[in-house]
Amino acid sequence: MSKLEIALFPCLSDNYGLLIHDPQSGKTAAIDTPDADEITRQCEARNWGLTDIWNTHHHWDHTGGNLALKEKYGVNITGPNMIEGRIPGLDIGVGEADIFQFGHHDVKVWHTPGHTKDHIVYYVPDAEAIFVGDTLFAMGCGRLFEGTPLQMFESLKKLASLPPETKVYCAHEYTVSNGEFAITVESENPALRAALGDAKTKRTKAVPTIPTTISKELETNPFMRAETPEILGQIRAAKDNF
Ligand SMILES: [Zn+2]
Repeated sequence: MSKLEIALFPCLSDNYGLLIHDPQSGKTAAIDTPDADEITRQCEARNWGLTDIWNTHHHWDHTGGNLALKEKYGVNITGPNMIEGRIPGLDIGVGEADIFQFGHHDVKVWHTPGHTKDHIVYYVPDAEAIFVGDTLFAMGCGRLFEGTPLQMFESLKKLASLPPETKVYCAHEYTVSNGEFAITVESENPALRAALGDAKTKRTKAVPTIPTTISKELETNPFMRAETPEILGQIRAAKDNF
């Protein structure tokens, strides 16, 4: 079976555009649509015809390109359907524990509320990769716009159960600012100090810090390391005011 290919590229001010391509079936999916023009350019540069969009949640910087890309490519749009009308052009609504096919590969969907009520993530075991939108960031997590600390705690626990080597594709480059906050929570954590130093070096050269891995987040991320929902809530409130 030919290997799945993943492309990551900056969009808007600090989003990442993400494409996954299956050479065998010729399918290409965009994970969220921060910028239709940039996604089109990236597909054309690789000779990949866009066939699918997988949305993680409804925020404009994740769905803004849906309709333009649907018009251009006739793509099939998969996304959360728990709250009707949120995902522009939605074709297939999915939720917790759904599995769908991408070529011959399984894509597993988990519901990870917290950032929004209906946030979902896409796990592709054959690529050892998960697309987490705004649920998990390197050394951070999404703001709790609609969900509770308990929901985010449980969502992050689901992610923590993945194989440690799983690559985590986050939707934003927030790593350095997240790390600078994380170090105030756990100043003596050597893995965290190393990860922050590494992220700063990469960012001075404009190199992406994404993907991260589950094992790296378990070692460095104060939200993944929070032992109770209450502690997570306190850390999240402190980060909101950092
Ligand atoms: Zn968002």
